[in-house]
Amino acid sequence: MTYDCAIIGGGPAGLNAALVLGRARRSVALFDNSQPRNAVTHASHGFITRDGVTPAEFRRIAYEEVLGYPSVELLPWEVTEIHRNDHRFVAVASTGKQIEARKLLITTGLREIFPDIPGLRDCYGTSLFSCPYCDGWELRDQPLIVVSENSGVFHMAKLLYTWSKDLVICTNGHAVLDNDQKQLLKSRNIEVVEQAVTMFIGHEGKLRQVEFADGTRIERTGGFITPEWKPKASFQGSLGYEVNEFGGIATNEWGKSSVPGVYAAGDAAYVMPSQLIFAAAGGSKAAIGINMELTEEDFV
Ligand SMILES: Cc1cc2nc3c(=O)[nH]c(=O)nc-3n(C[C@H](O)[C@H](O)[C@H](O)COP(=O)(O)OP(=O)(O)OC[C@H]3O[C@@H](n4cnc5c(N)ncnc54)[C@H](O)[C@@H]3O)c2cc1C
Repeated sequence: MTYDCAIIGGGPAGLNAALVLGRARRSVALFDNSQPRNAVTHASHGFITRDGVTPAEFRRIAYEEVLGYPSVELLPWEVTEIHRNDHRFVAVASTGKQIEARKLLITTGLREIFPDIPGLRDCYGTSLFSCPYCDGWELRDQPLIVVSENSGVFHMAKLLYTWSKDLVICTNGHAVLDNDQKQLLKSRNIEVVEQAVTMFIGHEGKLRQVEFADGTRIERTGGFITPEWKPKASFQGSLGYEVNEFGGIATNEWGKSSVPGVYAAGDAAYVMPSQLIFAAAGGSKAAIGINMELTEEDFV
């Protein structure tokens, strides 16, 4: 059997695409190896009708809806290889299972790379986060630390000032702020620490203190950290699609990449800003793009 579409990645982007394609009566192979990016967090925010839902509950509802459409098949495996076979795409799973599809949608998301600081992983998702729009409300008016090694730290400091005025900005040993920026931060009583963070000290994920290279410790109950983002999976070697300035798959408005028949959506394409509702909307648009293309090919 040749599927109309293979979707690689069943997060909100892939799931919304599967929903739209299933409702359009297209046959869909939906691969997902169940490693969603937001798995560490206890609640997801900012998605209308689902504000505060746990990531697990969000996925449960989405899978129940999507798999109600008989032409959508869930293949719960990692895809390790994709190649072309004439006008078809062949997706190979870690189990060795292979399927063929006319169109391909990549919705594999991102992975985060953090500085190697003891205690960071224990607090990430409970009191340390990376996106103020996702978790700023929960940390409002608290003593916060912002850790970022790149020049975006100034923007992050300005942004977070809406959520809390009690901010310490740490560049983790990097000189990324100029004097004007430091002055402006100082004028708002925002302390800048250019030393490296040596430890996040907390209990059951709740941050209590931050220790710096000179041994000093400050009291903080939460904060934001800017990781480096990389694609969770890359099929660029075999497919040859172009990437955008953020390292995501470059697409047009309908999720179409530079390679005919290959689409991408969600964090795999946009990287920033990454939000559940953006990912779901991108998946929906890509599905409509794919269905338009299939329709044009078939209705001749
Ligand atoms: C700690 C944290 C908290 C967040 N909180 C919020 C929030 O409150 N609100 C909000 O809007 N956003 C939040 N986000 C961002 C949000 O999680 C992402 O923007 C969103 O999940 C992106 O959806 P996606 O479908 O593109 O990718 P993902 O949700 O990452 O899904 C990708 C899926 O693809 C699968 N996959 C990857 N590679 C393969 C492969 N080779 N084969 C098969 N399957 C594969 C993965 O297992 C995963 O299930 C948060 C992120 C983090 C890290």
